[in-house]
Amino acid sequence: MKIIFFIDFDGTITDRDTCVAMTGAFARGNWEELELKWQKGEISTEECARETFKLFNATGEDLKKFLVENVKIDDYFIDFAEFCRQKGHEIYILSDGYDFNIETILENYGIKGIPYFANKLIIDGRRFDIECTYSSSTCKQCGTCKAELIEKLKPENALAVYVGDGYSDICAARKADVIFAKGVLLSHLRQNGIAAIAYNDFSDILKWVNRR
Ligand SMILES: [Mg+2]
Ligand SMILES: [Zn+2]
Repeated sequence: MKIIFFIDFDGTITDRDTCVAMTGAFARGNWEELELKWQKGEISTEECARETFKLFNATGEDLKKFLVENVKIDDYFIDFAEFCRQKGHEIYILSDGYDFNIETILENYGIKGIPYFANKLIIDGRRFDIECTYSSSTCKQCGTCKAELIEKLKPENALAVYVGDGYSDICAARKADVIFAKGVLLSHLRQNGIAAIAYNDFSDILKWVNRR
């Protein structure tokens, strides 16, 4: 059976959340409060980003340098992606973070040809803004609504596998047939009695897909 992977980016493909990391590096003032409100679902991704960017002082070049110097990817992601390419399993990256961060990091690791859906980061000098191209008309929380994207992208006769770690994965993961989870996502699914496979890194997922 064909397998289609839907994979979160921040903290899943990368070793840390690039949105939180860039905010820690470039925002002045009480951005943590905004992050907490977002985690609780009190403000949307778009509202959170726009308020957070008011506290920013950086250029696109600053951000690119920061990401290249400070963000690593999962040690086994490249092997995993190569295996999937050889076997014809599709991979989509679904992110409620930024296209700029995904492109910068994938390019830094020489990774090509993986389609992604994410929010657009607009940088004009020192002004940052967000554009949510893949938001949903029914979901008010997400900038990029992963749950809706899975429904659109999942073919009839494929096994959909979700891989993620965070708040923006919670409703999306439920749309998949198999869930690999760590972090907040894993604890949330466990608390709600939803079956998920705990994993440490992509070597676990590579082993799983290799056995099929
Ligand atoms: Mg994440
Ligand atoms: Zn949503």
